[in-house]
Amino acid sequence: ALVWLLMSRVFRIAPTAALLLAAAYFSIIPALLCLDCQDWWPALLQGWLQKLLSLLGFSLMALGIRRMMRLRMRWLDVGSVAGLATLSMLACRASGHSAAALAATSAGMGLLTLLAAKDVQTGGRATLTDGVRRFLLLPYLLLAAMLLGRSVTLLWMNEQRPFFVQGDHASAWLAWAYLLMTLAIGIGLVGIVVTRLIDRIQYMTLRDPLTDALNRRALGSELQTLQAQAERGQSHCLVVLDVDHFKRINDSLGHAAGDAALLHLVGVLRANMRDLDRLGRLGGEEFCVLLPHTSLADASRVAQRMCEALRRSPLIWREQPLKLSASFGVAPCQSGDPQGEHSLALADWLVYRAKSEGRDRICVAEPGAALGRVLKP
Ligand code: GH3
Ligand code: MG
Ligand code: MG
Repeated sequence: ALVWLLMSRVFRIAPTAALLLAAAYFSIIPALLCLDCQDWWPALLQGWLQKLLSLLGFSLMALGIRRMMRLRMRWLDVGSVAGLATLSMLACRASGHSAAALAATSAGMGLLTLLAAKDVQTGGRATLTDGVRRFLLLPYLLLAAMLLGRSVTLLWMNEQRPFFVQGDHASAWLAWAYLLMTLAIGIGLVGIVVTRLIDRIQYMTLRDPLTDALNRRALGSELQTLQAQAERGQSHCLVVLDVDHFKRINDSLGHAAGDAALLHLVGVLRANMRDLDRLGRLGGEEFCVLLPHTSLADASRVAQRMCEALRRSPLIWREQPLKLSASFGVAPCQSGDPQGEHSLALADWLVYRAKSEGRDRICVAEPGAALGRVLKP
């Protein structure tokens, strides 16, 4: 309970889900304690209040897990199960059937656990592997089986109840089993949060925050991979581009317009890329597109398409069209350049040749051009 509270309020990690889970554990704690230490607790807590707290705790846990798994927050199923179980429990107690009241509470808790298991199964499909999901589901299924089994035995087995149901009260054994299962569920959920945080940190170290393109470091390592494959004869290309007169946009319309122009550019470039192509920001308004398994002729067609698409689709800034264009350099990944710095420098040089020839155009490396010759024109 304290860990979730700390996560929610101090670290602001999954704040709503963590708060719901903290509340769930805080409700379950007194319920667990009065199962195990019946002598210490007032009669009230041993009676209907304990059952109510258990149902409340399990409902909050189901909702917290739903939120944690980023599913739509539907309340109806959880609310109906908890509401029905509470009403049945209170009705049974009022009519003096204490075993039936306990059975209704257990059934409610078991069904709420199954709802949580369903959410872990559905919500984890996108991010967790099947093995991890099965492992995480285990304590939910055990807990649900235990609670539903207890409910059934309380109702139908008056004489020979198994060892985990003693009289109308639960045994200390059951209290410990609850504790372990809820702890296992909690650890699984903390594991999901930590894994997500690590993914997020990794994502942030590889991405440019404004445009979400790869940053220079990430682009460099992708380029190295392509260069290593080029060494073995595979044909890859890269396109470097620089927005024309970008400074004018910043100077005349402000930095916000410049940022919007960069986002617009990235949208246009992405619309003209395949899934396996990679877009990176080299810095400022200079970007690079890596085109794996592409010949120089095909790469120049891609660059041409991007150049025309940018020219044809102006940015709408404060209801006014703002024309954008860029200069493109297209170069192959050649062998003998493990870091890709020569390929990049060649494409960069071609960009500046395109600029000097009038901008808004592409410039393609001569097929088979020696790197040194082109780099030092
Ligand atoms: P050219 O056609 O020769 O490329 O001219 P240019 O104006 O595009 O070139 P220059 O390199 O002089 O200007 C680039 C400008 O990009 C300067 C810098 O202030 C701006 N810039 C760099 N990064 C960002 C950014 O993230 N957002 C915004 N709004 N501007 C940026
Ligand atoms: Mg520029
Ligand atoms: Mg520039």
